[in-house]
Amino acid sequence: MPAGRNSRLIDPQSNPHGPATITSQPQIPAVSLRVIPRDQHTISRKDISPNALRVLYRLRDAGYAGYLVGGAVRDLLVGGHPKDFDVATDATPEQVKHLFRNCRLIGRRFRLAHVVFGREIIEVATFRANIDDGSGDRQLHEGGRLLRDNVYGSIEDDAVRRDFTANALYYAIEDFSVRDYLGGFEDVQARQMKLIGDPEQRYREDPVRMLRAIRLSAKLGFEIGAETAEPIPRLASLLSEAAPARLFEELLKMFLSGHAVASFEGLERFGLLPAILPETAAALSSNRSGALRRMLLEGLRGTDLRVANDEPVSPAFLFALLLWPAYCRALMALQAGGMNAEEAQRRAADRVTLHQLQTVALPRRFSLPMQEIWLLQSRFSTRQRKRVTRLLAHPRFRAAYDFLLLRLVASGEHAEDVEFWREAQTLSGDALSASLGAEGGADAYLGEDDAPPKRRRRRRSSSAAAATE
Ligand code: ATP
Ligand code: MG
Repeated sequence: MPAGRNSRLIDPQSNPHGPATITSQPQIPAVSLRVIPRDQHTISRKDISPNALRVLYRLRDAGYAGYLVGGAVRDLLVGGHPKDFDVATDATPEQVKHLFRNCRLIGRRFRLAHVVFGREIIEVATFRANIDDGSGDRQLHEGGRLLRDNVYGSIEDDAVRRDFTANALYYAIEDFSVRDYLGGFEDVQARQMKLIGDPEQRYREDPVRMLRAIRLSAKLGFEIGAETAEPIPRLASLLSEAAPARLFEELLKMFLSGHAVASFEGLERFGLLPAILPETAAALSSNRSGALRRMLLEGLRGTDLRVANDEPVSPAFLFALLLWPAYCRALMALQAGGMNAEEAQRRAADRVTLHQLQTVALPRRFSLPMQEIWLLQSRFSTRQRKRVTRLLAHPRFRAAYDFLLLRLVASGEHAEDVEFWREAQTLSGDALSASLGAEGGADAYLGEDDAPPKRRRRRRSSSAAAATE
């Protein structure tokens, strides 16, 4: 990438001015400025956050260049509603801080300015060169780190260091034009995701870009350009070098932003599943009936629907879903080795969690409820009054019940349990007792609360394992 050659340190004393400083640099062959005037694009100020506009105007009035950039410009061009608005400027972070009382500087490696308006934060980044790829995977870039920390760049450098051409468009407040240095405007019109520069090199620099290609194409309904797509299956295993914490964040974005099904199918199509969810990938490929995959997709469909309806979605439930195939497989193996059901469930849950942590840093506040969702599945066949009451009051009951529903939809099994617990939730304590008392088979357990119903339990656990057959 030639951008580094052209990077320069901005002298904080100088006050580089907006459009006047924009010159195309002939030594970067791929870069040439195309200005798309207001009447040739669809971005309207009324769709831009008023706070982002405030930041842009203030920068301009102080004589700096300020552009809306990145995902927001891309999303606005396709008629979407950006969830956040980023600004790029030639002002240094200190200069930005000077302009805004409500500004704080963050980041040690590369300083960024956050301008805070109540709950909305406008991130203002100084143009920078392709020194820091934003990956956070420091081990890939040993040496030269100090340099990297402080090198600002021109707007051209800033465009070239971004990932996709569609993400390298700049909206200028002074004339409401879009500035395109790399052909991104055309690519957005053609609904193409294309990496800037040599795709293989860009993936090697930062393998998470493979996930971003899939996530963003799923979100936008874009196709991944042929050259950008080609290296992905070959380089999939590089993802294991990415920082687990970053992969966790990326997976949340991928699956909790309303495009989980399309993202999952993209991961499968490009062979990335074994790199990020290895045990689930193995379980899915050995599950001949396809029941596990059906259940997973059904769950992701439900997640997308909840996002579309503005209902909350939880990382614990999501990971319970994503790792359920792995859990079922581990459980089956342990039980086949003769371990009793309860012990096998606990061990399987721990084992799957531990193995997954090697790739994706799933925080405990999510992995514990995830495991509870799994372990509660075996308790739904009880009809014993005290156990029923206790399960209904369990903080994870609702999530576990929703999970049971998914299992019903995917396999047609557990219909009786779903019906029982659906009704149980609607009944008062007395009505529940009466209904339990009235049930023939369940009567046998009334009053025997401490005697574990061994026979029933064994049957339950094997039904979880049955899904893997
Ligand atoms: P969304 O916010 O919809 O998830 P986005 O493109 O805005 O998508 P962000 O993570 O918010 O994604 O990144 C903002 C911008 O930073 C991107 O548009 C892109 O220009 C740049 N960027 C992000 N990640 C990378 C990366 N790994 N390599 C190069 N540039 C990146
Ligand atoms: Mg963004």
